[in-house]
Amino acid sequence: MTQETQALHAGYDKNDFGTMSVPIYQTTAYDFGSADKAANLFALKELGPIYTRLNNPTTDIFETRIAAVENGEAALATASGHSAVLFSILNLASAGDNIIVSSKVYGGTTTLTTHTLKRFGITCKNFDSSSADDLENLIDENTKLVFFESLSNPQVAIPNIDKIVEIANRHGVVTICDNTVATPILFQPLNHGIDVVVHSTSKYINGQGTALGGVLIQRVGLNEKLIGNARYPDFNEPDESYHGLIYADLPFPIFTLRARLTFMRDFGATPSPFNSWLFIQGLETLHVRIKEHSKNAYKVAKFLKSHPKVKSVTYPGLEDDSQNHLVKKYFKDGMSSGLLNFEVEDFETAKNILDSTEIFSVVVNIGDSKSIITHPASTTHNQVPIEELEKVGVNPGSIRLSIGLENADDLIEDLNKALG
Ligand SMILES: *Cc1c(COP(=O)(O)O)cnc(C)c1O
Repeated sequence: MTQETQALHAGYDKNDFGTMSVPIYQTTAYDFGSADKAANLFALKELGPIYTRLNNPTTDIFETRIAAVENGEAALATASGHSAVLFSILNLASAGDNIIVSSKVYGGTTTLTTHTLKRFGITCKNFDSSSADDLENLIDENTKLVFFESLSNPQVAIPNIDKIVEIANRHGVVTICDNTVATPILFQPLNHGIDVVVHSTSKYINGQGTALGGVLIQRVGLNEKLIGNARYPDFNEPDESYHGLIYADLPFPIFTLRARLTFMRDFGATPSPFNSWLFIQGLETLHVRIKEHSKNAYKVAKFLKSHPKVKSVTYPGLEDDSQNHLVKKYFKDGMSSGLLNFEVEDFETAKNILDSTEIFSVVVNIGDSKSIITHPASTTHNQVPIEELEKVGVNPGSIRLSIGLENADDLIEDLNKALG
């Protein structure tokens, strides 16, 4: 079955209740019916709903569906994209370990990995994901993962994916790709040998900025990479927190299962069933929307490129963009989402443009059906010292646009006025 059809049907059997729309199981707990059934669920002799902090039938349908759309084996939905990023890391690394993270990632991922995780004994090394030339030298015996974004927010940088995967695999290190901006419609990381995908479903998957959520998805065959791999004792040795369970012995996708049974159990970043339902609605139209976002962004990028007050435009979908060969190599039909950056003279000019637009909303979000304008240097990246901004690909005069589903001509007219 193709991806588009899976996005509409995977995970839900309409014959169960005869409802076209997936039911929302707004419940905290489940009636096991018998003591034996309850014991079997807790002993993992069978999998099924126990308590909504761990699982829920509506969320389960969303997980099955997004796993299908990403061509993965299993998924775990979380309360936010950030908790998905956090769980994907904690599932592999503990105090004393190190992780390797692209220097071009979401600002929140940078603060989490370089500052907050350090307080818990996990150290972070950054690498240049565009070339990946420095990656191999950074890997040591305590390295647990390589993390990068397929289309980075806000730089819209595309990594040297084949090289990253080749190096990480040679060292038996797990690769994690944040696929939020590209979406599974434009790029399917697992088909390129990446081990784990994470998403902020708050963005394009939701599509209308109505709910926060995240998900992590594991590749078919990831179990084999983890089992017997000396880098990952947590999957191969008894888990004392689960009466000596050894994940490697289980007949299930163990990456998402362990994230559920340990981190979801203990940290409780659980999605609400209603939000899972919203993400199911979003997935059903994702393939149509992301094409329109991409088409609109392409037109806006072309316009900006021709404007005398615009110093540069970064939109990988433009034929003359320095990353266009990577879009052609990895992404569907040359499309590169609704996210684009352009640069004007300086900090003040950029802020004035934000204040002069009418259709664009000054919002720190992306992937909404409504167009958004952001000045990273004064908002999402204001915790980054000004002299380090360039290192993470953000300049004082950089403006990020998340192009929505309005008519592109209206957006161009709005920007044209704002540029003056
Ligand atoms: C927004 C975003 C996140 C964080 O997701 P939340 O749902 O806001 O917690 C992580 N990665 C990327 C690329 C994002 O754009």
